[in-house]
Amino acid sequence: MRRVYLDHSATTPVRSEVLDAMLPFLKEDAFGNPSSIYSYGREAKKAMEEAREKVANLIGAEPEEIFFTSGGTEADNMALMGTVAANEKKGRHIITSSIEHHAILNTAQYLKKKGFKVTFLPVTKEGLVQVEDIKKAITDETVLISVMHVNNEVGTIQPIKEIGALAKEHGITFHTDAVQSVGKIPVNVDDLNADLLSISGHKIYGPKGIGCIYIRKGTKINPILFGGAQERTYRPGTENMPGIVGFGRAAELAAKELDSEMERIKSLRDKLIEGIKERIPDVQLNGDLNNRVAINANFAFSNVEGESLLLSMDMKGICASSGSACSSGSVNPSHVLLAMGIPPKLAEGSVRFTLGRDNTEEDIDYVLENLPQIVEHLRSISAF
Ligand SMILES: *Cc1c(COP(=O)(O)O)cnc(C)c1O
Repeated sequence: MRRVYLDHSATTPVRSEVLDAMLPFLKEDAFGNPSSIYSYGREAKKAMEEAREKVANLIGAEPEEIFFTSGGTEADNMALMGTVAANEKKGRHIITSSIEHHAILNTAQYLKKKGFKVTFLPVTKEGLVQVEDIKKAITDETVLISVMHVNNEVGTIQPIKEIGALAKEHGITFHTDAVQSVGKIPVNVDDLNADLLSISGHKIYGPKGIGCIYIRKGTKINPILFGGAQERTYRPGTENMPGIVGFGRAAELAAKELDSEMERIKSLRDKLIEGIKERIPDVQLNGDLNNRVAINANFAFSNVEGESLLLSMDMKGICASSGSACSSGSVNPSHVLLAMGIPPKLAEGSVRFTLGRDNTEEDIDYVLENLPQIVEHLRSISAF
């Protein structure tokens, strides 16, 4: 049976060029510890610094501003926990949005429990944070604003540049989770006015378990792990060499192919959107059609339960998701869709399709051939 993978916001396959770059670091030829002074160590260190430069280039940063982490989740945790720890004397208030990834939301909830003040900003029905709301939320005690660049469920692109400028004006540290924007739209830390920024390897055709936090020179932040002097003591622990090298190669390719690849994917995505609207009654696209990344289409199917739809699609080899991969398995409707004011029933009947490098025109034709029947069948037996 044909398999059509349409869940690239959950994870992406490691591309072959990335695997080729990684393999020596898993074998006898290049297994060295980059902290060692003999040849094996020096060779590892050199490869690590080359990878750091490639990641820095992808976002317009200096290599010294890139700190490798175990992924996006750790980078997000460090942005929040590390910033509040370094600014204890200044204040105890942070501002974030209600549609963040759980790596931010749950860290913010934890800080709230610990006595910090946390503002969770609302969003418009298109899923946009409003700069005016941030302006109103800022107090003398605010030490951090954290708003994601692109939302992982609906693909909305936030006004990060404006939010960053506002933070700068008030001398507040600004973090953005750019896990879903890097490789999909241009990301430049200076254009965005970002002090801190998170990236994950496995969302850009690199391996899982690697990512980084960008820390602008002069930004006050503490480590959240303690140990050796790796990553200039900001992130101790022997480096994940295969991961770092693979992440570097993935970043290099993402920068090179961004424009051509996104143009190709956008035309496939638009064909999917048009096709679904044409063939299936009572569907609505969640989020803004224009202000979103090219890979994302998120649909609410009325009178259908999202989980059943996913299972039926899976039986036809179509892989998509409801909400985010991290919260699937839970029956609660997506916190993002609810924050956008979508009624719980419709939120529950929502499915996210996210396209990627491996998708073809035939994939989209296959989905459009099969999905209408699946939805019709589920609606005919629905208890909704
Ligand atoms: C996937 C994702 C993360 C988590 O990254 P991991 O590397 O899987 O820990 C964080 N934020 C967003 C927006 C994501 O999509």
